Amino acid sequence: MSKPIVAVVGRPNVGKSTLVNRLAVNRDAIVHESRGVTRDRSYHTTDWNGREFVLIDTGGIESAKSKDVFAPRIREQALAACDEADAIIFVVDGTVGVTDEDEEVARVVRKSGKPVFLVVNKIDDPARELESWNYYSLGVGEPRPISAGHGHGTGDLLDEVVAVLPDEEDEEGPADDALNVAIIGRPNVGKSSLANRLTKRNRSIVSDVAGTTRDAIDSIIEWKGTRIRLVDTAGMRKKNLVHEDVEYYSLVRGLEAMDRADVCILVVDASVGVTEQDQKLVGMAVDRGCALVVALNKWDLVTTEKQRDDVAATLAQRLSFAPWAPSVNMSALTGRATDKILEAAVKAAANHACQLKTSQLNALLTQIREGGHTVTDKGRRLKVHYGVQTGQRPPVLTFWCNAPDLVDDNYERFMENRLRQAFDLTGTPVRLKFRLREEGRR
Ligand code: GDP
Ligand code: GDP
Repeated sequence: MSKPIVAVVGRPNVGKSTLVNRLAVNRDAIVHESRGVTRDRSYHTTDWNGREFVLIDTGGIESAKSKDVFAPRIREQALAACDEADAIIFVVDGTVGVTDEDEEVARVVRKSGKPVFLVVNKIDDPARELESWNYYSLGVGEPRPISAGHGHGTGDLLDEVVAVLPDEEDEEGPADDALNVAIIGRPNVGKSSLANRLTKRNRSIVSDVAGTTRDAIDSIIEWKGTRIRLVDTAGMRKKNLVHEDVEYYSLVRGLEAMDRADVCILVVDASVGVTEQDQKLVGMAVDRGCALVVALNKWDLVTTEKQRDDVAATLAQRLSFAPWAPSVNMSALTGRATDKILEAAVKAAANHACQLKTSQLNALLTQIREGGHTVTDKGRRLKVHYGVQTGQRPPVLTFWCNAPDLVDDNYERFMENRLRQAFDLTGTPVRLKFRLREEGRR
């Protein structure tokens, strides 16, 4: 289930990143570039007293050098973050008093209608706590003095934030056996067009199952007897954000959708080719163990041989680490091959959930042994005695061998290739583990 989102907003230099770093458990930072400037905005999962939520740090926005460059940016940034969030932490700097930019952010935050926590930061000396009342004038409720630097007040803040977050259980629909499919990709590649096609053309059992408190909306369709949940179709519809924010939030939404998905359909604009951002998305999907199919969309715009070659070249180059992911040339606009993409996704899901027979796996190991392919080092020689599938979704294969330390990337790749030749693992990543076991023992 998707986790509640808390956005940390405020003008530059008030200590947003410092606060997020203090509150976050792990860093899952998304670096994002636009207009030649690297802006680092990030997304972190956090846990407080057993409640998990996601913190969005908008702190990486470049600090304003002159007075007038920042205002629109801060506004856009704050707008986008508030739009997405279940609760907002609004940070101001307790050492300088209320500024015009603080008031600008306050307006945005008030308009959002979301629960707001006004945090007066840099109150390093508890004797100065009362000064935080000056910020009451921002009109967003009671100011809370904290020091992100020292950590004072952050525990109390989290207690209060967690108390207003929506219950994850409440959001959860009835349990079902639907296949969870996330349609991911950069903005404007055709994700919503594809989702619309799929939900219109196929029997839509429940479309737009709204979450009560958040706008994660799933659509469930039935396709040739398989129930398919298109995860977070609402996230694709956000169109009112400025370009960079769309780019960023589509990444964040994509990540969240992936967490809930068995299969990801990466939608690529074939008239552009596979981009670096697509490559990153695929990396994240593979890290999360999702099955993957690639939709080369807008194929109606690919009319020349050169264009076809270019797409094939970027696909081979950028997704070389996932050569097992099938691709389908399609057009959400004309409807071409949209069934094929579902077929590929369902197939990938089946392979993702497969259970390989131990006897077949070991027959393959015997063949490999007889072929003599192994690794040797300083007189030692790798022998793989026995293998078994120890996990599913994605398949995990554990091999017992005499010297796991001899297994290098090359050998692992070799083993994966042999497995893929022997078994149909199209569309799914596989994980290989090598464990120590002496010869003669099973
Ligand atoms: P952001 O631009 O809002 O993300 O701000 P940063 O987190 O980058 O912080 C801006 C500056 O304020 C940095 O130099 C921080 O070290 C400093 N800072 C942040 N929190 C505190 C605090 O609680 N006390 C003091 N004294 N300095 C702080
Ligand atoms: P999203 O931001 O990824 O959800 O993209 P949309 O579905 O909103 O599509 C962005 C634009 O691309 C819209 O103008 C669509 O009409 C257009 N589009 C989507 N699919 C196709 C396609 O297969 N061919 C062409 N030519 N245009 C498409």
